[in-house]
Amino acid sequence: MIDRRMIPQFGCEISRLGYGGMRFPKNGDEVDVEEAVKLLRKAYDMGVNYFDTAVVYHKGESEKIFGKAFEIYDRSSYYLADKMSIWVCKDEQEMKDLFERQLKTLKTDYIDFYLVHSLNRNHYQKVKEFHCVEFLQEMKRQGKIKHLGFSFHDTYPVFTQILDDYDWDFVQIQLNYLDWQNQGAEQLYRELEKRNLPCMVMEPVRGGYLATLDEQRAKPFLEMEPNRSIASWAIRWVESLPQVTVVLSGMSDMAQLEDNVAMMTNFEPMNEKELEAVAKVVEEIRKVNDIPCTGCRYCMDCPMGVDIPEIFAIYSRLKIFGKDKSFVEDYKEVMENGNGAEHCVGCQQCMNHCPQSIEIPDKLAMIHRLYLDKKAELEAAEAAK
Ligand code: SF4
Ligand code: SF4
Repeated sequence: MIDRRMIPQFGCEISRLGYGGMRFPKNGDEVDVEEAVKLLRKAYDMGVNYFDTAVVYHKGESEKIFGKAFEIYDRSSYYLADKMSIWVCKDEQEMKDLFERQLKTLKTDYIDFYLVHSLNRNHYQKVKEFHCVEFLQEMKRQGKIKHLGFSFHDTYPVFTQILDDYDWDFVQIQLNYLDWQNQGAEQLYRELEKRNLPCMVMEPVRGGYLATLDEQRAKPFLEMEPNRSIASWAIRWVESLPQVTVVLSGMSDMAQLEDNVAMMTNFEPMNEKELEAVAKVVEEIRKVNDIPCTGCRYCMDCPMGVDIPEIFAIYSRLKIFGKDKSFVEDYKEVMENGNGAEHCVGCQQCMNHCPQSIEIPDKLAMIHRLYLDKKAELEAAEAAK
């Protein structure tokens, strides 16, 4: 049976591993409902008791699958997490209706862990406009929600703003050994540690990337433990952080489930040698990135409002994952928020504070040019279709 830990803030025991319902097996374009139900029930039998879904996972099918899988169990024997994906609601009433519909779909009277989904500055504006948190707090008072939190995808200042604005019971962030410094995830984690807020973790294998490293990059892992899966290193790394309450994994087959459960049974945090192996792998992955930004933010604030670490993080993702479309979309969002590199006037104030001695204005100009080129390429490809 998988390890469970008592979480004092919730007064209950939660399995180290949580099942994320966003990557169920498929038959062509459709989710294989029977197989998905089998997987959830198998996880339950193995002691997993935290199950996380959202209305946008598998176009609404995920919540239905959860409703079907758990109807045979005692409701107090597992914990459901679901989310308010505010962007699918056109007004406040639709948001309220969605919540009631989720209860019906999940065949339950209450949701144990309810999150305002994927908060960034844009979604947060809508959340405020629709009085979303106030509504969910009322649902909590009525017993329809046990614990209220949010999941997050934006920068540290937005994070602390949201934390300060309301009383939260927990927070879900993207955390893995690659994003720890690269994407400023450490700063978010430390903030939760400081506030003693339980931290739920998503993307421990970075959308599968850290599960499929090639031999060259994974060499330190393979030399040390040739029989251990590459994915298990990523999940164990996250689970070794003390503030982490549960690590979510979107498992698509029995082999993944069994591998994940095995590593969370009689769990031992990573030792020095294992952590060194992880550091070597990170170094190897980072070699493709020619801007050694660690996301420390010592260069901030820029007097012209340029979000230097965020722009370097977007560039780093392009170098590592090679996804032009994501690069263009992410950079465009920074520009729309008024924090793009085109505002840099080359004053060099930031460079005096950068421990990595990065030629910041030059690099910003290069990234902005790259954005314009890639945007033009994508538009041309679209027009040629
Ligand atoms: S050089 Fe550019 S990015 Fe750096 S502080 Fe000056 S304006 Fe901001
Ligand atoms: S100070 Fe340098 S390393 Fe730190 S976030 Fe700014 S550019 Fe990156």
